[in-house]
Amino acid sequence: MKKQMNAEEAKLKQAEYLDLFRESKALLDGHFLLTSGKHSAQYMQCAQVLQYPERAATLAKGLAASFQDQGIQTVIGPATGGILVAHEVAKALGVRALFTERENGVMRLRRGFTLSPGERVLVVEDVITTGGSVREVLAVVQEFEAISVGVGILVDRTGGTVDFGLPTASIIQLHIQAYEALECPLCAQGIPAIKPGSRKI
Ligand SMILES: [Zn+2]
Repeated sequence: MKKQMNAEEAKLKQAEYLDLFRESKALLDGHFLLTSGKHSAQYMQCAQVLQYPERAATLAKGLAASFQDQGIQTVIGPATGGILVAHEVAKALGVRALFTERENGVMRLRRGFTLSPGERVLVVEDVITTGGSVREVLAVVQEFEAISVGVGILVDRTGGTVDFGLPTASIIQLHIQAYEALECPLCAQGIPAIKPGSRKI
């Protein structure tokens, strides 16, 4: 039987993970001008934490723990964000790692990668905002008649509202509020907005 974390433990764990993201500058607090033109008080760039292999492994172990007893045979994630996550989670579970890629806009397994009918697969991704890429990977798994056992996500930006119809675990649930420039409370306070990635921050 899987040991269920109680809500308090889960909250504590999430706070520790958030610290890891902040220390890695994967999660920034401030005043940001997003590519959408909206403004926000937080900015997330997951690749920043994954540049540190030990931190990537720590996060992956956290995800792997949720699926430890599920008989996972293969971990699979969409390129590019899911490649490292699949690799690290697979390492933690002692199984193989695959990634899907888009070819002419269609998500598929390339490079001779294949799945067997009935193979138990865990689908992973670094960040989800709508879950679109994860759904495309789930469809690929289904094409091979393999079994998607669950979905593991490092950063769930839907704030936990996404529903894949499968057991889903995330390391961090994050909802970053985005404001129209005219309604931005940070602009109202006269704090200058920074365009992430455009300079050293
Ligand atoms: Zn603003």
